[in-house]
Amino acid sequence: MNNKGVLTVISGFSGAGKGTIMKALLKTYDRYALSISATTRKPRVGEEHGREYFFISRDEFESMIAEDRLLEYARYVDNYYGTPKEYVVNNLNAGIDVLLEIEVQGALQIKEKFPEAVLVFVTPPSAAELKKRLVGRGTETMEVIEQRMARAIEESEWMKAYDYLLINDTLDECVKQLHETIQSQRYRASQCDELIAEMQKELKEL
Ligand code: 5GP
Repeated sequence: MNNKGVLTVISGFSGAGKGTIMKALLKTYDRYALSISATTRKPRVGEEHGREYFFISRDEFESMIAEDRLLEYARYVDNYYGTPKEYVVNNLNAGIDVLLEIEVQGALQIKEKFPEAVLVFVTPPSAAELKKRLVGRGTETMEVIEQRMARAIEESEWMKAYDYLLINDTLDECVKQLHETIQSQRYRASQCDELIAEMQKELKEL
């Protein structure tokens, strides 16, 4: 069994319920660390520096890129978003499972750097349900909802690049399934070199 933490990337359509799933996962199990991204976008009402994001200037962001302090980054709707390297690497080395809630371009960069990372794509059970949830939020204009639906069409092209789809039907079920998916990664044979070597040694000694 691998002593390092499992790195999990969670992406999904806007309105799929990623945020709610992450909150419930962190509340239910105490073995996860959620990475806080850096971004150049302005905080929304109620958001705090260091809690939702590290809100930084474009210059600061570009210095982080130049100093190789980001594991991945992407431009999304005119802003930069990126994952600070140090927090992720330190937690993984300490055996803590790390969660990244990032969009598709970032997810693919992570898979390149960490082939053992688990990529999970969250989707509602149907397109009609996605639209219903976006409308139900009541926070967006019809124009923004149409934009999000159009973006969902683009993002759906990438669903196949993920390791797992997570259908967000019932929240509790979904959280349990995500937890089990992540934990089962510890027993992937390709991640268990030490256990296999130990077993081989013991077998020869018997
Ligand atoms: P929002 O501005 O709504 O908070 O986030 C916009 C998008 O950026 C979401 O899809 C979110 O998952 C993604 N995102 C947040 N942090 C990061 C990051 O560090 N890297 C990348 N690639 N995407 C991110």
